[in-house]
Amino acid sequence: MICNLCPRKCNALRTAHTGQGFCQMGTLPVVARVAPHFGEEPCISGTRGSGTVFFSGCTMRCMFCQNYEISAQQKGETLTPAELAECYRMLEKSGVHNINLVTADHFAEAVAESLRIYRPNIPVVYNCSGYLSPKILTLLDGLVDIWLPDFKYSDDRLAMKLSLTPDYVNTALAAIKEMLFQVGKPQFDKDGIMQKGVIVRHLILPAHTRKSIDALGLLKRTFGDEILVSLMCQYVPWGKAKNDPKLGRVITRREYDKVKDVLFALELDGFTQDLSAATADYIPDWDD
Ligand code: SF4
Repeated sequence: MICNLCPRKCNALRTAHTGQGFCQMGTLPVVARVAPHFGEEPCISGTRGSGTVFFSGCTMRCMFCQNYEISAQQKGETLTPAELAECYRMLEKSGVHNINLVTADHFAEAVAESLRIYRPNIPVVYNCSGYLSPKILTLLDGLVDIWLPDFKYSDDRLAMKLSLTPDYVNTALAAIKEMLFQVGKPQFDKDGIMQKGVIVRHLILPAHTRKSIDALGLLKRTFGDEILVSLMCQYVPWGKAKNDPKLGRVITRREYDKVKDVLFALELDGFTQDLSAATADYIPDWDD
């Protein structure tokens, strides 16, 4: 097939196992890890964990990617939609609170098919970069209960510089708008576990607090109280960022407090992390 699935619209050839587009992936999902995960927001991880399925490859190319080994090196096992559906069944049986699909955009067609083969009886979480096309959102309409997009940048030039991604800001805002339209305001069960809604994540980068403050302002002005915002401080220099003069360190307490103060001043509802989260402990071991 010729692929124009994600906002990159590569118009490139993809077969089941090979891809000539930006993501370099074939159309069959490549899965790096299937396991309960306890490092998500409390309403997602709960006490029994979130049933994560980590997909290999990515439609962005962040120089600081914490999942570099799978996003750029394409580690993992190729699965059919039916095999993927079996993974959901297995995770659900283990008692997790939800099925959490991590970075699946470039496999959206196969993922939609897998969810039509088996729709879990627990919420389906779609954990993504925010850089989604209307086509991907349409494919997944009615199959996702909780959208968990990033809003990485408030500035297209920075998105291009750090993630080789054009037109990020408007693409992500339009995508979040559609997510909200599909699932509505946050809903929780009696134990506080999320059942439906949108949580937007923003990761603070060292020496970029002004950009983070702009991102929070943009989210507030665009979505008001309809979304939850998860402010993340867990950045650790990874991949090419290790040697970057600005990105080669964790964020300081002063930087974190500065952005957090704005989150509270804007009365954005959601989550913050403890600064101790800025360690490599949050990065899964892909060889597990
Ligand atoms: S999914 Fe991959 S090949 Fe298709 S448009 Fe996006 S980056 Fe290009």
